[in-house]
Order: sequence, then structure tokens, then C-alpha cells
Amino acid sequence: TPMDQFFTAMADRGATDGRARPVQVLVVKDDHTFELDEAALSKILLAEEVRDREVVAISVAGAFRKGKSFLMDFMLRYMYSQASDKWLGDADEPLMGFSWRGGSERETTGIQIWSEVFLVDKPDGSKVAVLLMDTQGTFDSQSTLRDSATVFALSTMISSMQVYNISQNVQEDDLQHLQLFTEYGRLAMEETFLKPFQSMIFLVRDWSFPYEFPYGQEGGMKFLEKRLKNQHEELQNVRKHIHSCFTNISCFLMPHPGLKVATNPHFDGRLKEIDQDFINNLQVLVPWLLRPKNLDVKEINGSKITCRGLLEYFKAYIKIYQG
Ligand code: GDP
Ligand code: MG
Repeated sequence: TPMDQFFTAMADRGATDGRARPVQVLVVKDDHTFELDEAALSKILLAEEVRDREVVAISVAGAFRKGKSFLMDFMLRYMYSQASDKWLGDADEPLMGFSWRGGSERETTGIQIWSEVFLVDKPDGSKVAVLLMDTQGTFDSQSTLRDSATVFALSTMISSMQVYNISQNVQEDDLQHLQLFTEYGRLAMEETFLKPFQSMIFLVRDWSFPYEFPYGQEGGMKFLEKRLKNQHEELQNVRKHIHSCFTNISCFLMPHPGLKVATNPHFDGRLKEIDQDFINNLQVLVPWLLRPKNLDVKEINGSKITCRGLLEYFKAYIKIYQG
């Protein structure tokens, strides 16, 4: 089963360089300075099998406690099962991956990368390296807002696909944050003369108006278009802004996963305790994001980037914000 492969992969790593796990590569410290763990990042991106491969960098970004890790654990299942039809696994298997560290998890604004870079064969015969990133921040005060926006801007520049994970609706706040972090992105573009943004996906969790706009991608697009039109004049700029910053923009509406997922502290991710509506949509969402055919290589100004190249951009972009 996919989970056997998952465990075998983990065990194999165990014999060599430690288990596959999330690695914190960027942290924002209390004094608002950024710290890049260059050694950790280099170890991942310069591993012999991947360093000269073109890279697909997928980031999931958003505030804490909004189900990012939960989703990413399913993304890992898909990657470890090599896109098999049975990727979702058995009803009784607990989820593992980004959420592993359980209670000890500190809420650190920054970027985590899954230590294993996946090699995937695309239908056109190319082999690409797929990197999964978890980007998180807090948005509760002026200073944390600024830090988080900067981290988001960075992860957006580094990724070929940014999944913006938001709760319940696309609120004014979410758009303001987006405005802020695309502005930070522009700042970097001005300094480097590069246009680095690629795809942005608004992922709305706990969508509760499926009769108005159905779950999934089509309903999402219709909802987003309407949402971006209906706003105050000052926020009209956001719309223009994000359209000028990204090559592709889309939206996916996800149902609520059910009360066990949302409220039971002992819930460990078993499928049988998740609402069927959620699972059905997960089965659309995850392959839509990660199907080999849909994996877009990171491009900067029209050039495809390798893992080695991505490391250099990472370092260069961080310098801009370090001042
Ligand atoms: P993260 O901090 O964004 O990575 O959030 P987690 O993935 O750790 O999830 C935080 C809590 O929300 C956990 O108790 C999850 O079981 C729960 N959760 C996961 N997905 C969803 C969702 O789509 N909706 C709701 N309401 N809760 C979720
Ligand atoms: Mg998390």
C-alpha cells in the first residue's frame, strides 16, 4: 500500500541521514531579523540526485491552526504513493508528516521544507524535483503582520505554486495581507529586475455556501471573480495588483472536514473519522495540485530553475529583506 511505501521510505532515510521530516529553513526571530539555515537548505537542495534537476516548488502558506499541516500530510501520501489510485490510504491509518511533532510544535513564523525532495517523471519524459514547503505566520499585530508578509513574499518568490490557505471565506483581511505581501514582492522585483511570481491558488477551508458556489475549482473561480469585484475602492487595487503579479490565479473551495477533525484533541488523521464530502474533495484537490502533468517547473524571467539555482535565489532574496 502507499503507506507501506511511505514507512519504507522513512526507514530507508533512517539508515542514512535521519528520517524524512519537516526542516525549519527560515525563522523570523523576536527582534524581527530573518535567519536562514543555509546548511540545512543546502543539504536538501544540493543532494546529488536532485541538485541539477529542474525544480517544482510548492508552498502552502497561511496563518497557524488553519489545517495546513493536515493538508500537507495528504500531499505527502500522494507523493509517496507515486500518484497511485490508492494514494489516499486505508481508513484506519493515522496521518504522518508535517504534523508529526505534535504538542512540541512551537508556532514559529517562517518556512519549513520537507527534507525529502521527490523525483517525478512527467508525461513529456522530463524528470523534475518536487519540493514541499510550509509557510506560516501570525497576523495579530503590526509587527507580526510585517514579518509574516515578508515571509509570505519570500515563499511566493521561491515557489512555482503558492497555495494560500484561508479559513471560511476570502475576507478583507486576507486580501489586505495579500496586497501587503505582493508589495514586498514588488520591492524585491525592483531590486532584482525579475518578475518571479507564478501560480497562486486561494484554498478556502470550511466553505459553507456550496449552494451558492459549489465546492471545488470551478465554483472557486466563480466565487473569487465575484469576491474580487465586490470590494471598496482602495481594495480594487489589490485585484489589479495580484493579476499583474501572478501568471495563474485560481481558487478551490473545500468543505468542513467534520467535528472530529476540528475539535477532538486525540484525532490522529484517520480517514474513517473525516467527513466524506471532505475526502471526496481531497481526492480532487490533491491530484489537481500534484499530478505529474500539472507540476510546473519554477521559472524566473522565462528560465527554468534547478534546485541548485533555487538555493541561490533563496539567498539573494533574503539579503534584500535583511537590508
Ligand atoms: P496548521 O497550523 O495550519 O498547520 O494547522 P493544522 O493542520 O495543525 O490543524 C490545526 C487544527 O485544525 C487541527 O486540530 C486539525 O485537526 C484541524 N483541521 C485540519 N483541517 C481542517 C479544516 O479543513 N477545517 C477545520 N475546521 N479544522 C481543520
Ligand atoms: Mg502546521
